[in-house]
Amino acid sequence: MKTLLFTLLIVLQAAALEVAVSVVPQQTFVQKIGGDRVHVTVMVPLGSSPHSYEPKSADMKALSKAALYFAVGIEFEEAWLGRFGDANPKMSIIRTDAGIEKMEAHHEAAHDDHDHGTHDPHIWTSPANVRIMAHTIADALIKADEAGAAQYKAGLEAFLREIDATDETIRAALKQTPKGAKFMVFHPAWGYFARDYGLIQLAMEVEGKEPKPKALMQLIETAKKEHIHAIITQKEFSDRSARALADALGIDVRHFSPLHSDWSHNLTQLAQTIAR
Ligand SMILES: [Zn+2]
Repeated sequence: MKTLLFTLLIVLQAAALEVAVSVVPQQTFVQKIGGDRVHVTVMVPLGSSPHSYEPKSADMKALSKAALYFAVGIEFEEAWLGRFGDANPKMSIIRTDAGIEKMEAHHEAAHDDHDHGTHDPHIWTSPANVRIMAHTIADALIKADEAGAAQYKAGLEAFLREIDATDETIRAALKQTPKGAKFMVFHPAWGYFARDYGLIQLAMEVEGKEPKPKALMQLIETAKKEHIHAIITQKEFSDRSARALADALGIDVRHFSPLHSDWSHNLTQLAQTIAR
């Protein structure tokens, strides 16, 4: 019996379509659509910044089994997608940011140093963008594994309903929040979320680094003026300056990572925090 179970397990595992993605929320999306027909490997582990990530040899090994790679348009892919393709020529690389209009990075910085010319890669903080990504993912899964088409289509439909429900919950949470309301974050990861819901994201980070004392003083003034009631940070970055600012104003530091696996819950919680 034990042997039979073990054999069954091996067969089931062998049947799963091997897929690789760059960041954790993409794993959530692929699993929602593919269910047990897919096995997903994530390149950037939780707690690491995808902006400065360097794939390890274990990552390259995992890629040797993958049939599909879902890129999202984050920095490390620029340098590495070519090498991933060379390491596994049979793997199809799918760009899930295709068809998504990118925003300029640091769209509304709270400081003076705007850095222009780069695009905000955090596309998945917008439910509208995730709808587009979901279709791209489902199409690629069906193409790679036609026998699973019915399951992938059902998975897509269910996920699209979840995306709509998430959007409605966010809108309900922000009902009393005036258009153009500002929220302050350490790392500007929520630009698409802000755009979709008529909010303005103020970033503390200056060119990817902690603000210097003078910039921090300016941020404290801005936060006071804009009646900011919480600073949003994520564990991928130091929260030293966020804490200093929060202490100066007697407000809270709240942790929200755009890399959270429970995508829907994370976004609705963020909306509730901003609305409070
Ligand atoms: Zn980021």
